[in-house]
Amino acid sequence: MTINVQPSWIIATEDIEHCNKCGFCLPVCPTYQLTSNELQSPRGRIAMIEAAIEGEIEIGEGLEDSLSHCLDCRACETACPSGVRYHRILEAGRDMLQSPSYGKGRKRLSFATQQILKLVKKPHWLRRAVRVGNRLNKVSLPKPLQSLTPFLGYTEQQIAKVTISSSTATMAVEFFKGCIMSAQFADANQAAKNLLARGGIPSDSPIHQGCCGALHLHSGFTEEAKAMARQNINAFRHSEKLIVNTAGGCGAMLMQYGELLADDPQYADDARQFSARVRDWATVFKQVQHKVPLRGSGQRIALQNSCHLVNVEHAGQDTVDLLNVVTGDIFVPYSGQDSCCGSAGTYNIEQREWALGILEQKMTVLADKHPDIIIVNNPGCHLQMRWGMTRYHLDPNSVQHLAVYLERAAQRAERMAEPGERADA
Ligand code: SF4
Ligand code: SF4
Repeated sequence: MTINVQPSWIIATEDIEHCNKCGFCLPVCPTYQLTSNELQSPRGRIAMIEAAIEGEIEIGEGLEDSLSHCLDCRACETACPSGVRYHRILEAGRDMLQSPSYGKGRKRLSFATQQILKLVKKPHWLRRAVRVGNRLNKVSLPKPLQSLTPFLGYTEQQIAKVTISSSTATMAVEFFKGCIMSAQFADANQAAKNLLARGGIPSDSPIHQGCCGALHLHSGFTEEAKAMARQNINAFRHSEKLIVNTAGGCGAMLMQYGELLADDPQYADDARQFSARVRDWATVFKQVQHKVPLRGSGQRIALQNSCHLVNVEHAGQDTVDLLNVVTGDIFVPYSGQDSCCGSAGTYNIEQREWALGILEQKMTVLADKHPDIIIVNNPGCHLQMRWGMTRYHLDPNSVQHLAVYLERAAQRAERMAEPGERADA
């Protein structure tokens, strides 16, 4: 069989050559755990993409079935002793599925995903959609749209802005707002800014920034993702300050701009410099947390750590460390707190049954720990865990972003410092 080999496929072959088929990545792969099927494992997917590049198998339904079920959580990269960059291989494979010869392109995405891909590029429309969703609670959506249920009935926390005098500032950062973070979880962004300010780090948000492009890249629309990356690089190019954000998925994508635009002669250097400035907000806050007393109220706290924060940003431990310094609450670790919840961008819309299966496995372990609050650090996880709580007839609003939880703890500690106040206030 003769196929037109694309440049991105050649890049992937360099990574494929590093895979020695050892299988160390299999036990950490959520889709392999769910199915025990080699074709739904990292090793199986790499083998299929290699065979497709070499023309040994058709670019067709079999390849699509395997690749479309991958969460792109990158747990396999963390487990791989040979340093195989699986995500580059996966991107080449998904690029193949966009080829005209296969003839599916954007049509293979559901209506809901197509609307989300448009909405994240139009912040005003996204905010309006979110406002409507927040007012609706317990609405019964038709089955194809049921994955959108977690968007409904979110109770936004009222977080008053904290400011510091510039004379007490030790450093300053720039804030990447994100699309869904700034629309649905603006309280978490404000809480993170407050905590940084309490630690002596003011932040500002450059205008003209937009969505990070992760949803487009992971859906196979690489050129659109590149255009979004260029917009953000332009928005942040006026300074050299660190760029912080509150979403594991966005942070991982921003850190990938250097790789994404490596072949763009106009943007390659800027993209590398931009990516080198990106940090999760919690990583920066951890450095100054000793200035900010944090007081809990006797609650049991469990964590759903963003897989991209853990496997790409390698910053998942910062969240754990911060949870461990809150006095008065009990942090309850469980097996699988760092593994993917099944959200994975639009995976829980496109692959609803699989996403539910992965979520169910997590909820079974988590429910046994009887947490009062479930901490998240990514909007996709936030929505997915709300879905999990709803399915277990528990309160979806007990899922909280790390920043909101810590800001509440900082406010409580402030009140406790005043005479006559109680910890459970
Ligand atoms: S990215 Fe995640 S789901 Fe995909 S193969 Fe790797 S571990 Fe499995
Ligand atoms: S990706 Fe890494 S861990 Fe998985 S089979 Fe290949 S070399 Fe082994």
